[in-house]
Order: sequence, then structure tokens, then C-alpha cells
Amino acid sequence: MDRTFTTIIEPFRIHSVEPLRMTTPAERSAAIEEAGFNVFALRSRDVLIDLLTDSGTGAMSRDQWAAIQHGDESYAGSPSWFRFEAAVKDLFPFRHVIPTHQGRAAEKILFSVLGGPGKVIPNNTHFDTTRANVEASGATALDLVIAEGHDAAVLHPFKGNMDLDRLENLLGEHRGDVPVVMLTITNNSGGGQPVSLANIRATSEICHRHGVKLFLDACRFAENAWFIHEREEGQEHREIADIVREIASLADGMTMSAKKDPFGNIGGWLALNDDALAEDCRNVLILTEGFPTYGGLAGRDLEALAQGLSEAVQPDYLRYRIGSTAYLGNALLAAGVPVVQPIGGHAVYLDARALLPHIEALHYPGQALAVALYVTGGVRATEIGSVMFGRQPDGTEVAAPMELVRLAIPRRTYTQSHIDYVVEVVTAVAGEADSLRGYRMIYEPKALRHFTARYQPLE
Ligand SMILES: *Cc1c(COP(=O)(O)O)cnc(C)c1O
Repeated sequence: MDRTFTTIIEPFRIHSVEPLRMTTPAERSAAIEEAGFNVFALRSRDVLIDLLTDSGTGAMSRDQWAAIQHGDESYAGSPSWFRFEAAVKDLFPFRHVIPTHQGRAAEKILFSVLGGPGKVIPNNTHFDTTRANVEASGATALDLVIAEGHDAAVLHPFKGNMDLDRLENLLGEHRGDVPVVMLTITNNSGGGQPVSLANIRATSEICHRHGVKLFLDACRFAENAWFIHEREEGQEHREIADIVREIASLADGMTMSAKKDPFGNIGGWLALNDDALAEDCRNVLILTEGFPTYGGLAGRDLEALAQGLSEAVQPDYLRYRIGSTAYLGNALLAAGVPVVQPIGGHAVYLDARALLPHIEALHYPGQALAVALYVTGGVRATEIGSVMFGRQPDGTEVAAPMELVRLAIPRRTYTQSHIDYVVEVVTAVAGEADSLRGYRMIYEPKALRHFTARYQPLE
């Protein structure tokens, strides 16, 4: 008899362990003060459960560690490169694969070739590094996610979808100024929400009718394909890899951070079909990253990523991965904590605006919540709100569309009991929300200010 059990079990067992260090609230208060109240400035040994990011923080498998031993560090034409290239092309059959040390290097190369003053580059929602690289080239970054994507509480199966009418209008009016349309799957800065296959198809059709290229920011392609498999009519019988290949077939290229779904601790790539554009990009690659058969990576990294790509699309893993994230989000909802719904793929996003209505946007409610999670329980999370997106290219500061705090779940790293502990900590902080105070920023750098800003608590 085939019974169904409800406990989420990790589809792996532990082979090697890393110790976690316990700290007291007093120690954490001192640590965060010394860090200028910026969780990015903490030492990770002072953090118990580190949900700052799912980027590069996943656990590699036995088979990835074994693959590392096959790393061939030849400068040119290493077998590790050919294994990596084949693994990428198996899922994303673009003509050219350009390896980079991480996703932003792929973005930097692409936008330094395609961007520039007067250019407009739309996306469903630009990720912070994507927006920063578009703007650094002098181009304008536009977010065209559907209206539902800006409302933390509204339920929609594909809240990462591109607003097709706005895209159509933009390309009608500015066609000559739009060198490429980006589509982020899943939409990280918009709550980790997926994009439907139908929306990717329609976006592709609009772009190509206007003669504009479509590139994927595909960091969480496997999670997005899993949501399509689970939520989109007619997709439930397909293999995940097959859905991924169809997504790739609708685009002209991609930028990728291999620190996400491919289980890399480092890595990325740019892939594309256009020969002339690929040549321009390779020329920048050689200046900034390395020779085209290793780019920014060691042979052993290329091997680990080739193996990781095959593990990323396995259904047992994805069922556990998405199930465990949903478990955290649903437990918080049940405890009355406002979170972005539906629950995203790699993270649960707390709605700091709803939880802390007494803290105004430019006193950074998300920042206040992130500090409280750390001091209360040693849980590190990141603000995605007016700290991250408030500073405009013209120097003004405005409120972001949403004030979120992201609990990003590293892949295969924490157990379900760690997740239960996080539920307890967040619930405890939410119970004392009225006592939290806002912050004033006392230092900020020119770009990507959330990484190095320093703060003072308001009285
Ligand atoms: C992480 C990420 C990037 C940048 O990749 P890095 O490897 O951190 O440079 C770009 N886009 C999205 C959607 C991401 O999640």
C-alpha cells in the first residue's frame, strides 16, 4: 500500500557536519552595535541561523565533492570546461556559453556591451546587482511586473509575471532604445515569485515582434520550472528538465548566478545565440574575467557546477525544497505574521510594512525587523525595501514599493528543526513589534548601499 505521510523529510542524510556557535542576546546586541546595525557587517560566527542569502551558501553533494577531484586546471581547453559547457547546454541550448565568476560579472559584461546612456532595459523586477549594472552603464532600469506583484497579500500563482501591456507599450514607444528585455525567474526582488510558461511565451512573442532580444536572469530556473509543473495547466506530467529547455528556447540568452539553483559556492555564466554579440562579450570577458574556457572559474568549480546542474532539476529535491520553504511561510501565517503570499521558492518574505506600521518607510521598517531577528534569536535576514531600493539615480530618496525582510533558505543546509526554530524566533519578534524603533542611516556608499551602510537607532 502506498501511504502518504506529511512530514517533510530531507532527501539526503548528513555526511559531514559544521558546528553552529550559540550566543546570548547580550553578545548579539554588542555584535550588532559594533556592526553599525548592519547585518552584512556581522561576523558569521556570531550568527546561529544564517538566512541572509541562498547565494553560494548551499551544501554541495558527495558527487559534487567527488567531481571537484576531476578538476583539470589547464589554462585553455580543459576537459572540465567541456563538461561544464555540455551540462549548461543540456538545459539551456544556447550557442555560446561564457563562464563568469558569478552572476553580476555576466550582467556587467552584457550591459557594458548593450547598455549605455539613453538605453532602457525593462525586467519583471531587476535584482539589485542587475539594476546597479544597468545604471552603471548609463541606461535606465525599468520594472514591469504585473500589479499583483506589488501587493504582498494578494494571491496569484505567478506573481512574477511580466505586465504584457506595459511591455507592449514600452516597446511601441521606445523600441530603438531597448536593446534587451530581461525576465527574472523566479522574481527574487519581487518575493521569489515564479513566472508562468504562458507569460514567458507571450513576453518572447512581444519582444521578437518588436525585434528586441529577450534574456533570462535564470538564477532560480529549476524552482521556477517546479512551480510551472505544480501550478500551470497541462504541465504536471512533464519532466522539469524538459520545461527548462522550453523556457530556454523562448529566449535569446541568459545571465546566471550558479550560486543559486546549480548548487555552486561560486560561479555564473552568460549564454546567448547571437554570434556577433557573443564575440563582443568574450572580448570583455578576457579583459575582466579570464580566458573563454574558464572565465572567472577554476576547473574544479566548473566540475562541481556541471554535477550540480543535474541535481538541481531532480523532482525529489525540488519537492522538498519548495515544500520546506512553504512550511516556514505557512507556519508564520498561522502564527499571524504577515508574509508575502503565495510563499516563494527560495525564501519567505516578511511584510515589514504591515508588521511595523508605526515606522515610516524612510526610517526603514525592514531594517528594524532584521536587527530584531538577529538580537532575539541569532537569525540573520536581509531587508529588501527602502534601504535596498530607496536611493534614486538622481540622488533623491523615495519609499520602495514594498518593505520586505527576506528569510532566504540556503539549499540542503538547514534541517526542519532549524526551520522550526526560525518560526519560534520570528513569532516572538512579531509579538513585540510595537516596541521596535526605526533607524537613521549615518553612512552610505554611492551604489548598493545596503551592503555597507551604517545606522543609528531612533529614540
Ligand atoms: C544572485 C542574483 C544575481 C547576481 O548574482 P551573483 O552571483 O550574486 O553576482 C542576479 N540576479 C538574481 C535574480 C539573483 O538572485
